[in-house]
Formats: sequence, structure tokens, C-alpha cells
Amino acid sequence: MSTAHEGEGALGELLDPELPAATYVLEPDVVEPLTRRIVTSHAVGTHRSTLPFTGAPLAAFPLSSPEDVASAVARARSAQAGWARTTLRERTAVFDRLGTLVLERQSEILDLIQMESGKARRSAFEEVADVAMACRHYAVRGPGYLGERRVPGMLPVLTGVRVHRRPVGVVGAIAPWNYPLSLVLSEAVPALLAGNAVVLKPDPQTTLSALWVAELLQEAGLPDDLFLVVAGGGGIGAALVDRVDHIAFTGSTATGRKVAARAGERLIGTTLELGGKNPLYVAADADLDSAVPGVVRACFSNSGQLCMSIERLVLHERIADAFLDRFAAAVRDLVLGTGLDYTADMGSLVSAAQLERVTRHVDDALAKGARAVVGGVHRSDVGPYFYAPTVLDGVPEDALCSREETFGPVVAVTRVGSDDEAVRVMNDTEFGLNASIWSTDVARARRLAARVQSGTVVINDGYASAWGSAGAPMGGFKASGQGRRHGREGIEAVTEVQTVAVQRGARFGASLDTLYALGGETPSRVLSVALGMMRRLRLP
Ligand code: NAD
Repeated sequence: MSTAHEGEGALGELLDPELPAATYVLEPDVVEPLTRRIVTSHAVGTHRSTLPFTGAPLAAFPLSSPEDVASAVARARSAQAGWARTTLRERTAVFDRLGTLVLERQSEILDLIQMESGKARRSAFEEVADVAMACRHYAVRGPGYLGERRVPGMLPVLTGVRVHRRPVGVVGAIAPWNYPLSLVLSEAVPALLAGNAVVLKPDPQTTLSALWVAELLQEAGLPDDLFLVVAGGGGIGAALVDRVDHIAFTGSTATGRKVAARAGERLIGTTLELGGKNPLYVAADADLDSAVPGVVRACFSNSGQLCMSIERLVLHERIADAFLDRFAAAVRDLVLGTGLDYTADMGSLVSAAQLERVTRHVDDALAKGARAVVGGVHRSDVGPYFYAPTVLDGVPEDALCSREETFGPVVAVTRVGSDDEAVRVMNDTEFGLNASIWSTDVARARRLAARVQSGTVVINDGYASAWGSAGAPMGGFKASGQGRRHGREGIEAVTEVQTVAVQRGARFGASLDTLYALGGETPSRVLSVALGMMRRLRLP
């Protein structure tokens, strides 16, 4: 059975909202070194964030106005000009140091992430590991991704063409609350390395983590004003879209559509990392010993508040009952808790709004005839926003959770009689972010993967092998997004491509002008002969 761990350690003294010290769990003078980094001057208001573990007020900080957004972008633009002129070696050195610093100072950010998001420490550590991997990857491979490329010119030898990657200028990043460290830096690291500046608008609930990132970047040697944070909600996000040169948005599909429309008006580039309704197929030949713990992690890491999290479990009927028995037992054993330590498997949902959404989805499915194999209840005994890890069977087509993203610890089971049927079920969604296939026949699983409409397909794992492979692009098909983060694609997205073509030969009388000076039909005849020869020689 799930065991609640009462708030232990540092958090224990802060749990009682009646204590004067708990007016804000983090007192103003503790957070001030972070909050003074917010770009704000017009005192448009104050935001109060909440400690999800208890519902107590966590911290208060000033909000930015649209004028502050304009000023942040102007400051970033002026700093970016000098940054773009630095060498790639100077820039990669910053991210080398950042990767080391994030590991050295991990306990600070792990506490902060847990306090802002309510997640278990092991889910918070995934963020630290992800950032360390992304820094290492881009420090090593970034210069190669950004290097100039020679391509064959119009006239062999006489036309020299090089293709360059130039920074776009100021990249606006809009981030959600679910991975406040990792999602911020997976946009910022490639953008900065490419020579851009970044203005970030985090979710209000996780603003302190974003400000800690700003502090860390400064310590790693990033010059002033290249990474600025504005604080606020959707209005400030929209103001950012109106000013920057590229928008890297991570969040829901509904908001992504609005951001895309606004960015489209300005003809700026976008990278949109949106929602999912991710399926996981356990084939008839899967190794259940490794599948059971792997599928538990795939469904319930970060309480299911993970874009790549599995919400649809597709089981081959030959193993369905055996798998489900063992899976349900493992889910019942998950430990829920509030400690700032590694004792809990699963933490809280982030907010009352998330709890309401998860409860609504589960109650709706149960009312329409589904059965809760495990869970299906609010765990207020652990904390105000905790929800039990939940496995639903027999969810009808018209239930909310069969089509909409729940974004919580809820997975629905479907049984299939063949791989073909599994592929059909997996693709039967408007989304296409992540999918997982479990089979001992990897070649067969690869063939199935080719038929699944999803940006990542992970074989014999839920999500970590794709997300953690920083060199591999990650993003969505269909309504799950546009563009990719990570790898070559992630850094190319925040650059403009520039072709520089040099025409040689004028000094030796071998220019196009010399040719056209021949007059009449002659230039066309000469060029036709030359084109014919190039075709025969298969010159590109
Ligand atoms: P959300 O769309 O409500 O908010 C995301 C961010 O957008 C927040 O910072 C918010 O303040 C801002 N915002 C809201 N309205 C805006 C507007 N009109 N213009 C500009 N910015 C605006 O999403 P959420 O609930 O915070 O996050 C959960 C969602 O994010 C889920 O759907 C999840 O799947 C998705 N997500 C996707 C990925 C991915 O990589 N594909 C990663 C994490 C989360």
C-alpha cells in the first residue's frame, strides 16, 4: 500500500501554515537574491506561489509589465550583438562550466524544484541529469552543428558557395511548470551557444527555479543581459511573442496554437513542444520482468505530469491479464511523499487546478463504466494535491481521458489481438509525441515503430532513453508540436541560414558578364552545352 511520508527534514518545520515563519515558506530575504533578477520596473503586481506539498504560500515576487518585456528584449538585443562576435570556443566554455556547476550545486536546485513543483526528488534529479547531458552534448558537438558548409556552386570551380548558420537574435522562451530546470535550459543552451540572447518567461509557479538558472549561467561565465527573466502569465508570454525573433514554446496544445498564430503574424520562427496522449504497447513476447517496473516509471514519473508520460496502455491479449496483475501490484507499492529526499517514488500534483483536472477525468471515466484497477482517489492524507497512481480498465471511447491529455498519474488499459491492431490503436489520437513498444524481438519492434505516428518511439523503455539522448531530436508529430529540441535540429532551429556565393574568374575573363557580352543566342548555347556536360558527369 502507498505510505505517506510526513514532511521530513528541512521541510518538516515549514509545514504548519500557522507558524509565523511559514507566512511564506521561503522568506522574502531568502528569495530576494533570486527575485531581484526579474526584469520589472512598473510594479504591476505581486505573484504568490504555493508549496504544493502543503498548499502553504511559498514565496512572493513582483511581476513584469509589457513595458518590462520590451525593455528586457532591448537589453538582450544590445548584449547579443557582442556575444555573436565571440568565438565558438569562448561560448562552449560557458556550457562546459554550466554542466559541471549544475552537478556541484544540485542540492540547491533539487530543493527548489521540489518546493515549486511538488515532485519527488528522483524526478527532480532527472532534470539535473538532463541539463548535464545537454551541456556536455552541445559543448562537444555544437561547433560541428554550427560550422559552415561548402556546397557545389553554379559553375564548377568558378562559383564558390558556403552556407552559414547565423544567430536569429533574441530567442523568447516560454516554459511550463512541470520541468522547470530542464525545459528552460534545453531551449537556452543551444540558443545561447548559437550566439543568441534569451528572454525567458517561466510559469509563475516555477519562477524561482528559472531565476536560479539565471544565477547559474552568470556563475558559468555568461555575460550580462544575455539571459533575462520576465515574470507573469499568458499576457506577458504574448507580449514576448510580439518582440522576439524566434519563440521556443513548451506547453499545452491549446496555448501552442495561439502562440503559433501570433508568431505567424510576425513571420518569426517557432519551436512548439506541446501535449501528448502517449501509448505504450506490451507485445505478446515482451519480457514482463523488465516491462513491469519500466512501465510503472513510464506512467507515473513526476506523477504523470510529463509530456512524454504514458497515458494509454495497449496490452496484447495473450499477456494482458498476467501483465496487469503484476503491474497493479507494483503500482500499489508506490510510495507517495513530501520529503526533500529520495524516500518517495511519487510526489504531488502541482496545483489545485491539476488536481481538479485529474479528478474530473477519472470520475468521468468511472461514471461511464470504467473500473479502477488501482487508485482513482484523491490522497489528501498525504497532501492537498496528491492523487493516487491510477490504472483504469474498460474506459469507454467517449470518456474524457480516452482522448484528452490528463497530465496526471492515470493510465487507461486497452487489449488488442495483434500488432496491427496495436498500431491502429496507438495512432488513433490527434497527438504524436512519444510512444513505447515492449518486445524481446527488437527488429520486429523497429518495424512497428516505423508505422507509429510519433516524434519518439522508445523500445523497451518508456521515455528516458529518447529524452536523455541529447543528440537525438525530440518533438511531436500532429498536434504535439512543430520543430524539434535537442541535437542538430534543436540548434539549427534558432539560427538563420545564410548562403554566401562568390563568383570567381572575372580577372581571367571567365565571368558571366564575359559570357553575356558574346550577345545573341551564343550565351544560351554555351550554357546548354555546359549543363549537358554537367548532367553527363553527374555533377550536383
Ligand atoms: P500552458 O499552455 O497552460 O502554459 C505554458 C506556458 O505558456 C506558461 O508559461 C504560460 O504562462 C504561458 N502562456 C499561457 N497563455 C499564453 C499565451 N496566450 N501566450 C503566450 N504564453 C502563454 O501549459 P501548462 O499547463 O503550463 O503545461 C502543461 C502542458 O505542457 C501539457 O500539455 C504538456 O504536455 C505540455 N508539455 C509539453 C512538453 C514537450 O516537450 N512537448 C514538455 C512539457 C510540457
